[in-house]
Amino acid sequence: TSSSGLIRATLFPGDGIGPEIAESVKQIFTAAEVPIEWEEHFVGTEVDPRTQSFVTWESLESVRRNKVGLKGPMATPIGKGHRSLNLTLRKELNLYANVRPCYSLPGYKTRYDDVNLVTIRENTEGEYSGLEHQVVRGVVESLKIITRQASLRVAEYAFYYAKAHGRQRVSAVHKANIMQMSDGLFLKCCREVAEKYPEIKYEEVVIDNCCMMLVKNPTLFDVLVMPNLYGDIISDLCAGLIGGLGLTPSLNIGEGGIALAEAVHGSAPDIAGKNLANPTALLLSAVSMLHHLEINDKADAIQEAVLKTIAEGKYRTGDLGGSSTTTEFTKAIIDHL
Ligand code: NAD
Repeated sequence: TSSSGLIRATLFPGDGIGPEIAESVKQIFTAAEVPIEWEEHFVGTEVDPRTQSFVTWESLESVRRNKVGLKGPMATPIGKGHRSLNLTLRKELNLYANVRPCYSLPGYKTRYDDVNLVTIRENTEGEYSGLEHQVVRGVVESLKIITRQASLRVAEYAFYYAKAHGRQRVSAVHKANIMQMSDGLFLKCCREVAEKYPEIKYEEVVIDNCCMMLVKNPTLFDVLVMPNLYGDIISDLCAGLIGGLGLTPSLNIGEGGIALAEAVHGSAPDIAGKNLANPTALLLSAVSMLHHLEINDKADAIQEAVLKTIAEGKYRTGDLGGSSTTTEFTKAIIDHL
């Protein structure tokens, strides 16, 4: 907390459209009188030897100190001798769970009207352990790592989230019929945690069946928790159910209660600097961050203003079929606040 009683949060505007949509978030937060003071951090122009990345040590320290932040899209510069920006943040801040709420936006028509689910993806191991090697010519081996520690940690978060958000059910997504040991361990950990939350219904769904059920009737699900690769795929599938990556927020949960919210989309170089970007995904990510901080009244007010603006249809950005600029859309949201 700052001396003025405001909560300090780190803000990475990021690259491409990042600064434009971050500006929109800042203006809307000011208009809504959200008690947040942003500490802005920019991606460096040189590799910081302490992080081996363009993300500086000071930026990482800022998130560690504030424990909360919002991140715009970052485009990792091409070249050798440095780590990807997103990977640096994920590893250094130990961002172990990726949380993506997916709900239908009223007035924005997709195939489904009443999606309201949350995917929680284990973000540190599984198929993304990065341990791959060639055994002999023509044969490679890639290790899927599942640990009790990481599985318990993400399961704990899923049940904590379900309880905190008044959700009824947690479904663990797996393929333990084939990957008996790895996914079997993941399920065992979920079951252990489930026992501590008797008020929340727990079920297990095989991933292939889960995909079929999601596209047939997404209302069958509430909170879904799963290992890394399944989470990567299912969370994008769910984003598609409600209209695509331009609308979907996400929140990364890290060690020691760190929460770093980020839009799911990239830096959109094709429309950068043209005042055309849709700030919705970053705004709804900021709303997730506010819910995490339990500043629920402001979170709800902003979410409602965003949804109203989209539903009204008078001001929409190009990706939603409208012709408004980022600034016009932002102003319309502020008028609704
Ligand atoms: P992208 O998400 O940037 O763009 C895909 C398409 O969606 C483009 O046509 C773009 O104009 C559109 N789009 C994306 N966000 C939009 C928004 N808010 N409003 C309106 N239209 C939007 O994906 P890409 O082109 O594959 O990647 C571009 C760069 O972003 C790459 O350097 C990539 O590495 C980076 N990236 C970063 C992140 C991240 O920081 N989390 C995620 C994905 C990609």
